[in-house]
Amino acid sequence: MSNTESLALQLIENIPGHVWSTDLDGRFTYVNSSMRAFFGGTPDNGLGTMEDWLQRVHPVDRHHVAAGWQHSLAIGDPFASEHRTCGGDGAYRWFRTSSRPFRDSHGVIEAWHGQTIDIEDQKKAEEELRDRSVELSVLIDMVPSHLWRLTPDGTTTLVNKRMADFLGRDLSDKSSIESVMDTIFHPEDADVVETELGRCLATGERFSMRYRLLRADGMYRWMSGRAEPMRDQGGSITAWFGLCHDIEDEMQAAAALRRSASKLALASQAANLSQLSASIAHEIYQPLAAIITNSDACQRWLAADPPNIERGKFTAKRIAQDALAAVDVVGRIRALFQRKPQPRLIEDMNQLVVEVLDLMSDEIAGTSTRVDTDLAVNLPQIPIDRVQVQQVLVNLIRNAIQAMDSTNPLRSLSITSYPSDPDGVRVEVRDTGGGFADPNRVFEPFFTTKSNGMGMGLPICRSIVESHGGKLWVANNEVAGATVAFTLPAASAEYGTADV
Ligand code: ADP
Repeated sequence: MSNTESLALQLIENIPGHVWSTDLDGRFTYVNSSMRAFFGGTPDNGLGTMEDWLQRVHPVDRHHVAAGWQHSLAIGDPFASEHRTCGGDGAYRWFRTSSRPFRDSHGVIEAWHGQTIDIEDQKKAEEELRDRSVELSVLIDMVPSHLWRLTPDGTTTLVNKRMADFLGRDLSDKSSIESVMDTIFHPEDADVVETELGRCLATGERFSMRYRLLRADGMYRWMSGRAEPMRDQGGSITAWFGLCHDIEDEMQAAAALRRSASKLALASQAANLSQLSASIAHEIYQPLAAIITNSDACQRWLAADPPNIERGKFTAKRIAQDALAAVDVVGRIRALFQRKPQPRLIEDMNQLVVEVLDLMSDEIAGTSTRVDTDLAVNLPQIPIDRVQVQQVLVNLIRNAIQAMDSTNPLRSLSITSYPSDPDGVRVEVRDTGGGFADPNRVFEPFFTTKSNGMGMGLPICRSIVESHGGKLWVANNEVAGATVAFTLPAASAEYGTADV
C-alpha cells in the first residue's frame, strides 16, 4: 500500500461519518470505523448486507428508503435519503445517506460507495424551529388586534387570522392577499392611506393613521393603524410590521360628545335670533350640500359602464343618512320654538358639572385658568332638564372665565356643590375676576358690560333655575371676584318650561 493509499484509508477511517461500499449483491465490502462503532460491531456480525442495514432503519422510514435504494440499483442513479437508524445502543438517530455507483472504464457498475452523516442535531433544531414557528403563528392569530406584514415596497405578504376573519376573506396566500388589499379601505380614506403609507415607505418613518375598513358584514369600522419598519444590521428596511385595532366605539362616543356639545352650543345661543338663524342655516346646509354631492356621485356610479351598483347603493345610503340629519335639525328647531316641555329626569348634579367642564376643557385651557371642584359626596339626585341645566353651568363658567382678565396671574375658577334643604342641591361658581360692577342690574335683559355681549345669559339662567323651582343669585366675593349660586329642589314639576 502506497503512502497516499494509507493516508486515504486513515482519512476514511477517521472521518466523522459512516463511509461504506457494497458489491452488486448488496454485500458490504467496506465499513469505516465510525459506522462499525455506531452499529456496535462489524459487517460480519449482523451488518453483512444492505438488507441487514435496512432492518436497522426505523420501520416508519424503511419503506421509502428501501424503495429509493431499489430504484437506484435498477437504473444506476445516485441514491439519497433521510431516515432514522437504530445504533448498537438501541437508540435511533437521524441520518442522511447518499450513495453513488462506482463504474469501471467501460461504464459498467462495479460497486456502490456511500456515506451516511448523522443529522440528529440538525433535525432536533429543525423540529424546535417548527414548534416555535407554530407557536408564534398561533400567538399572532390570538392577539386581539389585526397584524400584517409588508415588503419594503409596500406589498402585503401576511395578515393574521383575526384580520382575515374581520375582512371575511380567504387570505391564506400571497396572491389572495394582494387581490383584496385594494378593496378594503373606505373609498374616502383609500387615497389618503395610500399617500401616507407611500410617504412612510419612502422615508422609513413610522406609519400611524385612522381609517375605515370594510368588515365582512359590509359595514365600515374605524381603525387605528400603525406600522414600524424592521431593519437589518446595515440599517436597510427588510419588512414593515403593522398593527391595527378597532376604535369604532371610541369614535362613536366622541361623535356623541360632539353632538352633545353642539346641542349645548345651540341651546346657549337660543336667545340670539340672528346667531340662531345662522346656525340653523349652517346645520341644514351641511346635510343638504352632502346630499347634492352624494347625488352627483350616485348618478356617476350608476351611469358608469358597467354600473357600479355597490358604490351606488353606498352613496344612496349616505343620502338617506344626510336627509335624516336635516330632518333631525328641523325637529330640534321646532321643539325649541314650540317650547316643547321636556321630561325631567333624575340626574346626578356632580356628574353634570364634570361633563360640562369636560366639554369646555378646550375653552378653559385656552385661558390658563386653574379649575378646582369641591363636589359633595352625599349629594341627592334631582329631577332636571339636563340640557337646560347644562346651559346654566356653561353660561356661568363662561362668564367667570371672561371676568378674569388675562393679565390676572391668579385666574382661578372653583365649583362647589352642597346638599341644600330640603333634599335639594346648591351649586356655586366662584371666580377671581373683577367682580360685578352693578350686581343689581345683571338680571335685566340686555344688560351687558361686554363689547360683544348680549346681556341675556344671566336672565336666561335665572329663568331656567326658577322653572325648576330653584333660585339663582349673584354676589361679589370679600377678597376678589364674584360668585354665582343656584339651588335646585328635590321635587319639581315633572315637566317644565323656562321663560327663555
Ligand atoms: P353677557 O355675558 O352677554 O354680558 P350676562 O347676562 O351673562 O350677559 O351677563 C351680564 C353682565 O353681568 C356681564 O356683561 C358682566 O358685566 C356681568 N357678569 C356676569 N358674570 C360675571 C362674573 N362672573 N364676574 C363679573 N361680572 C359678571
